[in-house]
Amino acid sequence: MRERLPKNVYKEFRRIIAEGRFLDASLADVVANAMKDWAIEKGATHFCHWFQPMTGLTAEKHDSFILPTPEGRTIMEFSGKELTQGEPDASSFPSGGLRATFEARGYTAWDCTSPVFIKETGRNITLYIPCAFCSYTAESLDKKTPLLKSMDALNAQAVRVLRILGNTVSKNVSATLGPEQEYFLTDKKFIEKRLDLMLTGRTLFGADPPRGQEMSDHYFGSLHERVASYMHDVNIELWKLGVSAKTQHNEVSPAQYELAPVFANVNVATDHNQLVMETLQKVALRHNLVCLLNEKPFSGVNGSGKHNNWSMATDDDVNLLDPGSTPHDNMVFLVMLCAVIRAVDKYAKLLRASVATAGNEHRLGAHEAPPAIVSIFLGDQLTDIIEQLAAGGAKSSKTGGQLKLGVSTLPQLPKDSTDRNRTSPFAFTGNKFEFRMVGSSQSTAGPMFVLNTIVADILKEIADELEKSSNVKASVQKILQKIAKDHKRIVFNGDNYTEEWEKEAEKRGLPNIKSTVESLKTVMEAENVELFKTHEVLTKAELKARTEILLDAYSMTINIEAKTAVNIAQRQIIPVSVEYSGILAKSIKNIDKAGVDSSTQKKMLEKVCGLITTLSDGAECLKNAAIEANSIDNSAKKAENYRDTVKPAMALVRKAADELETMVDSRLWPLPTYAELLFVK
Ligand code: ADP
Ligand code: MG
Repeated sequence: MRERLPKNVYKEFRRIIAEGRFLDASLADVVANAMKDWAIEKGATHFCHWFQPMTGLTAEKHDSFILPTPEGRTIMEFSGKELTQGEPDASSFPSGGLRATFEARGYTAWDCTSPVFIKETGRNITLYIPCAFCSYTAESLDKKTPLLKSMDALNAQAVRVLRILGNTVSKNVSATLGPEQEYFLTDKKFIEKRLDLMLTGRTLFGADPPRGQEMSDHYFGSLHERVASYMHDVNIELWKLGVSAKTQHNEVSPAQYELAPVFANVNVATDHNQLVMETLQKVALRHNLVCLLNEKPFSGVNGSGKHNNWSMATDDDVNLLDPGSTPHDNMVFLVMLCAVIRAVDKYAKLLRASVATAGNEHRLGAHEAPPAIVSIFLGDQLTDIIEQLAAGGAKSSKTGGQLKLGVSTLPQLPKDSTDRNRTSPFAFTGNKFEFRMVGSSQSTAGPMFVLNTIVADILKEIADELEKSSNVKASVQKILQKIAKDHKRIVFNGDNYTEEWEKEAEKRGLPNIKSTVESLKTVMEAENVELFKTHEVLTKAELKARTEILLDAYSMTINIEAKTAVNIAQRQIIPVSVEYSGILAKSIKNIDKAGVDSSTQKKMLEKVCGLITTLSDGAECLKNAAIEANSIDNSAKKAENYRDTVKPAMALVRKAADELETMVDSRLWPLPTYAELLFVK
């Protein structure tokens, strides 16, 4: 931009972005023209408004730059208006009842704070313009708009607090996000034989393999050549798109990996995470791999999350969650820290609901995943400070000191003041919080606009009180003491994976909402409606629509899974099991004829036939349960029905099928096994 725009135009453009204003028509024309020239030089023929409807994915409609002139020539044109607004048909996107299908008009508006990029798909090269998406009546129909509004809210309240605390220079505060993306890779040839992976992204069948993740040898293990080459190609693609992919490594489960970018402002990071998910999947196919982003592709091993590293930064580069070397006397840090603590405790149910999806329901509380209880890990140093605050004031900070390794050739390492805790759902990690409950396939927008808004809300409370105070320092002390006392219960530094913690959390009165439906049902509580209204993030109608969409998505996901499970059971597993029982029956006849004892074979046959009956009845039951659930109108009741009848029916079908897998001749078995899916490199 700097190279292509006249100096004064560039300066004005930067100023507008920094001040959060919008550019006027003439400036937009100049910017659009420069973008077009750049895009055409890179081979682009089209531009598109790129937005994030409530599907959680992205959407795009391409237009070429071509414009026929009256003289019969063709020129390449791109106006400011085309850059800043679009009008795609909105009728087929989920709206949660906000609008009827015939009300088709939708608008896209350029989010000028997120960089445009050029994307090559096959031979098509297009200029992508990140956008927000709303209806004819200005209701937001996407994930981006509330995110941007929540950033505004957080900015407004954080700046108020900073001013009262004596900061007169910082102009604005942005929420920052670095999402660590976990994923699985498996060979493409297997997917083609697994309708479940193809259609639902997770295995609906599969007996436990003889080997799982018990050796802990995959975690941070050396990269396999095929995977390393894949990661290389992913990085190149991402860097071309302007996404700064940085960290990559093997994760805990066999076939599981992670990618983390350098953090950015939360709207940009959210856009980039969509590109990361898309690129991971796209590039995998080139390597004859398939990338699985589902939260629980395989039972019995770890699921995948998306650790959302979040903080707040000023425009002059101060990280507001950086404790410095003496956090006890860092007033800004303590206020921000306490605001987060109170926000997370007060709105724990809302935060929980922001990660409530069908996929995440298998993950939260399962194998090495955060439980459904929201708690905060602070570590020794900050916990000690919170205790001091509760007792009347913080006077000192514990330090880490040096770590002596006892080997003369190894350096002395400065020891962090606090260990890490990887079991915590919401952990302080040095200078940021890491929200680990987010599911791997989720857009980061939902959890992040909730987090931004709840923190903005508490900062507002604090600012309201401090603005009235004649002695700010004393008032801050009082506020921090109250927060420390009232919200100590949310701090937990121990092992979140244990049963003791569940019991302890219950004693502390912390909510433990395990099911997606129960969690989503809490969203419309008056306190939440008020929260989003106060900060102008979502109206009551928009919040309700979103909740309906999420409930419907839960039902549809399980409906697809149920139908897929029935299909696989009836058309693949039962036929081969019947074939195998025929083979057994035939051999029993022959064995008997030869005058040898066939009782073992008979027992096998009886067991196989019994399982076939269980599976066949179970599949029929599952089919009917899904049909019945699907006929319910009310979104919450429908989702409850899927949870209470369809999911258990599906579990019974799986149990019988998995047992058959351990008995039926492997040469007949139609599905690639867990061992193949997890271990073939
Ligand atoms: P871990 O050791 O927890 O796996 P990673 O290095 O994989 O950590 O990822 C940490 C993520 O946190 C990176 O995306 C990094 O850019 C991000 N991060 C670092 N500082 C901040 C910050 N101030 N705000 C938001 N994210 C941050
Ligand atoms: Mg990591």
